[in-house]
Amino acid sequence: MLVSAKEMLQKAKAGHYAVGQFNINNLEWTKAILLTAQENNSPVILGVSEGAGKYMCGYKTIVGMVNGMLEELNITVPVAIHLDHGSYDGCMKCIEAGFSSIMFDGSHYPIEENVAKTRELVAICAEKGMSLEAEVGAIGGEEDGVVGKGECADPNECKAIADLGVDMLAAGIGNIHGKYPENWAGLSFETLDAIQALTGDMPLVLHGGSGIPEDMIKKAIDLGVAKINVNTECQLAFAAATREYIEAGKDLQGKGFDPRKLLAPGVEAIKATVKEKMELFGSINKA
Ligand SMILES: [Zn+2]
Repeated sequence: MLVSAKEMLQKAKAGHYAVGQFNINNLEWTKAILLTAQENNSPVILGVSEGAGKYMCGYKTIVGMVNGMLEELNITVPVAIHLDHGSYDGCMKCIEAGFSSIMFDGSHYPIEENVAKTRELVAICAEKGMSLEAEVGAIGGEEDGVVGKGECADPNECKAIADLGVDMLAAGIGNIHGKYPENWAGLSFETLDAIQALTGDMPLVLHGGSGIPEDMIKKAIDLGVAKINVNTECQLAFAAATREYIEAGKDLQGKGFDPRKLLAPGVEAIKATVKEKMELFGSINKA
């Protein structure tokens, strides 16, 4: 059964580990992530961007697919399905479609408007038993055409949004979506520390978790990060494994062209990546 991300993240924050959000793109991705969570007895959050939502034929299709898998694959660990970087309209659609969690990305609005829209969504999510993530300070890099510079959030603005009653808070601390550039300055632990000091028990979210060095991830968890988003690393792992299969000519041997064979190495690569992240984040056996 799908659950809100609230309880799993509160437990993670109190227990000083983080739950991974792994973005999904299709059936193979979803299956790989759910099976890995179950095999490792870890809670998990399936992330869906608006672009991926369109690609997978809409939010209702996704909820149907995930609910079907939870039952048919006997998944018993806590699983949340979460809209990633949702617009206001996207949030409304996911609430209707049966998501258990949403992120409202109001970081590009003036703070007053971000507060007003977030407040409205807090009330709806509370009524539906859903969890809500808010964002303060745009996160760098590009996600579905939204480009941010990697700025650091204002801790006072973080407190203002946290006090509205959201369940988790994403704050820019120099993190970037996608591959990190050579000259990246690293995470601002000073900013993270200041945000944590003002927001207390609020689980903090680290976006752009792909490619951040392990020691920085661990330090971020120590400083209050309880949810880490991983997307690019699974994509790179899937692409590399698929490339290897085709370059080795395996699709030309026997029935190697069968999609169930052709996509299998990519699925295994996603599973290995997800497991590695769950180990690093400390969520194994925390279901
Ligand atoms: Zn993000």
